[in-house]
Amino acid sequence: MKLIEVTKAFASEEQCLAYLEASRWPHGVRCVTCGNDKISRITRKVTKNSDNKRAQLYQCLEPTCKQQFSATTGTIFNGSHLSLDKWYMAIALMVDAKKGMSALQLQRHLKVNYRTAWYLAHRIREAMSDPDGLKLTGTVEIDETYIGGRQRGHRRKLKNKDVVLGIRQRGGPLRLVQVQDNKAGTLYEAIAQNVDKNVSNIMTDDAGAYDFRITQFRKAKHAKIRHSHKEYVRGDVHTNTVENAFSLLKRAVIGTYHQLSIKHLQRYLNEFSYRFNRREDAALFEQTVMRLAKAKPMPYGKLIEQNAFTPFVRPVR
Ligand SMILES: [Zn+2]
Repeated sequence: MKLIEVTKAFASEEQCLAYLEASRWPHGVRCVTCGNDKISRITRKVTKNSDNKRAQLYQCLEPTCKQQFSATTGTIFNGSHLSLDKWYMAIALMVDAKKGMSALQLQRHLKVNYRTAWYLAHRIREAMSDPDGLKLTGTVEIDETYIGGRQRGHRRKLKNKDVVLGIRQRGGPLRLVQVQDNKAGTLYEAIAQNVDKNVSNIMTDDAGAYDFRITQFRKAKHAKIRHSHKEYVRGDVHTNTVENAFSLLKRAVIGTYHQLSIKHLQRYLNEFSYRFNRREDAALFEQTVMRLAKAKPMPYGKLIEQNAFTPFVRPVR
């Protein structure tokens, strides 16, 4: 579904809730506490000043449980002051924005305040991570890039510049991983988490600290393209497909996010690769709502607490 269809299909809270119910429980509503499928529905009037925001509730009929819950209970939508139609509109905007969607843009589209827009975008990003994704195999290209900022007064000195490792399977998915530094051990750890040990070809440039001879990838053919000798393609040896993804990422970072916090960088990377890997997928809105319906709540306090001492930085131009 595209934005226009989403706006038409989900004009009311009832329509939004019915859709969320179907996404969350495709085989019928189950109690969130005991899993029982004997449920009664409670529909009530919701006024503007009402404490109960949800018009549609469920009551578990298991006598020892009797839990009352809504379609948003226990999900990332839980406790949100935002109406679901704004959530859905934000999802539709984010899955369609090739260069990403900043909190400022969302603020304007949804007519909410900046903090609300920022928090909303980060919760949607959270659902876009692929923690159980399969490891990459076949021929993989590996390269690093740097996202971060110049500190005022130190033109040459790059601070808080974080290393992003890009791994792309030829004809397959892209992974972007934020790493602490570009030392061999750090890179290897990130590669081992994302690449299958039976991978057949690994392609890198000759700048990175890559040596796979004593690792679990020692059986793979490791070909290096000599960027230091101005060599960019040698037969089928190149890192162009991962570099293409990097250049799109950089345009997104520079063009969209005026301020991008390094402490949340991995979430921006997840958003970018999620969309990149599904760019041919027509049902991205539907899939993303389904992921959000399964994602755990993320309190605002927990989100801003993470690495609380990392400052905000501007992207490199
Ligand atoms: Zn129950």
